[in-house]
Amino acid sequence: ATMREDRIQKTKTVCTYCGVGCSFEVWTKGREILKVQPQENAPVNGISTCIKGKFGWDFVNSEERLTKPLIRKGDTFYEATWDEALSLMAEKFQAIKEKEGADALGFISSSKCSNEENYLFQKLARSIFETNNIDNCSRYCQTPASAGLMRTVGIGGDSGTIEDIASADLVVVVGANPSESHPVLATRVKRAQKLRDQKLLVADLRKNELADRADLHIHPKPGSDLVWLSAVTKYILDKGWEDKTFLMERVNNVEKFKESLEKFTLDYAEEMSGLSKDTLIKVAEMIHESKGTCILWAMGVTQHLGGTDTSTAICNLLLVTGNFGKPGAGGFPLRGHNNVQGASDFGTMPNWLPGYEPVENDEVRSRYEQAWGTKIPKHPGLNNHQIVEAITDERVKGMYLFGEEMGLVDSNINYVHEAFEKLEFFVVQDIFFSKTAQYADVVLPAAPSLEKEGTFTNTERRIQRFHQVFEPLGDCKPDWEIFRDFANKLGANWNYTHPSDIMEEVSKLAPIFAGVSYEHLEGWDSQIWPVKPSGESTPLLYTDKFKFLDGKARLFPVDWTPPQEFGEEFDLHLNNGRLLEQFHEGNMTDRSEGIHRIVPGPWLEVSKELAEERNIETGALVRLTSPYGKVKIRVLVTERVTGKELYLPMNTVDNEKAVNKLTSSYYDKDTHTPNYKEAQVKMELLEQF
Ligand code: SF4
Repeated sequence: ATMREDRIQKTKTVCTYCGVGCSFEVWTKGREILKVQPQENAPVNGISTCIKGKFGWDFVNSEERLTKPLIRKGDTFYEATWDEALSLMAEKFQAIKEKEGADALGFISSSKCSNEENYLFQKLARSIFETNNIDNCSRYCQTPASAGLMRTVGIGGDSGTIEDIASADLVVVVGANPSESHPVLATRVKRAQKLRDQKLLVADLRKNELADRADLHIHPKPGSDLVWLSAVTKYILDKGWEDKTFLMERVNNVEKFKESLEKFTLDYAEEMSGLSKDTLIKVAEMIHESKGTCILWAMGVTQHLGGTDTSTAICNLLLVTGNFGKPGAGGFPLRGHNNVQGASDFGTMPNWLPGYEPVENDEVRSRYEQAWGTKIPKHPGLNNHQIVEAITDERVKGMYLFGEEMGLVDSNINYVHEAFEKLEFFVVQDIFFSKTAQYADVVLPAAPSLEKEGTFTNTERRIQRFHQVFEPLGDCKPDWEIFRDFANKLGANWNYTHPSDIMEEVSKLAPIFAGVSYEHLEGWDSQIWPVKPSGESTPLLYTDKFKFLDGKARLFPVDWTPPQEFGEEFDLHLNNGRLLEQFHEGNMTDRSEGIHRIVPGPWLEVSKELAEERNIETGALVRLTSPYGKVKIRVLVTERVTGKELYLPMNTVDNEKAVNKLTSSYYDKDTHTPNYKEAQVKMELLEQF
């Protein structure tokens, strides 16, 4: 070992897992990770981390890492040079564009990668290939939440920070499981409950850990959240408990909205949601009695046919009670991936340029066209759901995807795999040979966060820098370098030498990032967008204006879309979600020894009642069947779920256990987010334990 390798290095990084955005030092020696050391001055987490942030890093040194570009030859791949791979890509993509048009190409971005990488990828799609067919995985999770916020208050992000959640009087959690999905945030809520007597209300099908600790846990029928939220809002208005001054001074469309609530009486809500009238009144009272309420929500709300409408109903309730624009209150969609917020913020969406400016707006487009020296098409592109459809009917022929396990995490994956097989040319860029990569023509080896520089944006809109700890393994390259080199191969002249060059370009183009710069992000410093040119952050939104021309918020009438019908044969409701110890499909966590040993795989949660009725015990092997596919899985009998409701964690790299073999291709009508949470299945016992 050289002298340098003998020394212990301490490098600040930002967690690569969930959207809470914990930061800490990584202590390393050579390529060995000695430990993760949180620091008091980390803005989000201080000295806390969860098991993933603490132990989830071994994947970086996994022997399964891709280290060379691969090119398909028949059923196998051969190792190639970068030059060979990029030349082939340039030739194939250009040929498709010339023959079929620019919109025969699709681009799928990564919410695990940096802001700078996401910006460059959409620049590649829009300026070099001249298509807006670009999207990221927020389409699978949080786009309905952003859409609901945009309809009502104007900005698709958390309206405050985790500090606001911690200082609220009442925290309401709807369809989310922060203890497992956002552990350090959940710790803040638990602490506030203990130290400040913060009240907690949890609405969830499953008695998750926060539900266990809540002052009130309500269990509405699957897919009925909009009904009880609207009924509670109506009850508050009927009682005269609304914030009258706030509504008068700051909110439009109040009368129309009131009329739209007419049908959401307590009787109607009791019948549709299964919650008793007393429970509904209790919920209304808790909100009425609280000085500041934060509502937190996630995929239990968004992944439905009416996910955007339910997110809107949450915002309506917060507006009626004056819970926007003041500390300790607001709407908080909890972002899943570490950079799901940033990927959308930096423009990897079919209808938005960076900073949520519409691609259809001539002034906005021409600002980018002048800076980039190219033309951008005016019409919005296809989202990732539409891209898969377009591949199926052969309108899209070429696809470039990076850092996204679409072949496991999209709904109805059998259908998605068939689409992949139809692609004429498919490039997958990742750190592992993913399930999706099996369908690729070229596979490019990328570098994970510990091997590059950049920034991530957490659920609070907080931009934080992470630093390079190791050299990229083998021939791996940071994703931004790959995009730069590919663009230059196609005749561009991109001369970025560091991600800070990219951020500098963004700050000149996107007003919400006007004052973002690497100088402001040194050490543990962070910035929360919108960032003024002076560099000043905006942790709390809407203190004086909402993001509409007249500065006022809009109450937005919505109606209930009942969940998808499956027919009587499929008699059990299948819910899905995360495990604390694993992340997502598990491509990284499952390759981290410390984690794999504790939680080797997913199991199916079955209620005591159902287990008794069907004579099934913990450990039994069952087959689940939906109209879309089959899964074989072992059972865990538990009190967390009740009646005919099952729960299957999504975290697995094992195709045979993947919940998305069972989910459908139906989606939220406004954003095309799949209705993952509306699956119905039948269950057969295959073998007792
Ligand atoms: Fe990482 Fe989220 Fe855990 Fe923090 S809470 S350490 S960001 S996974």
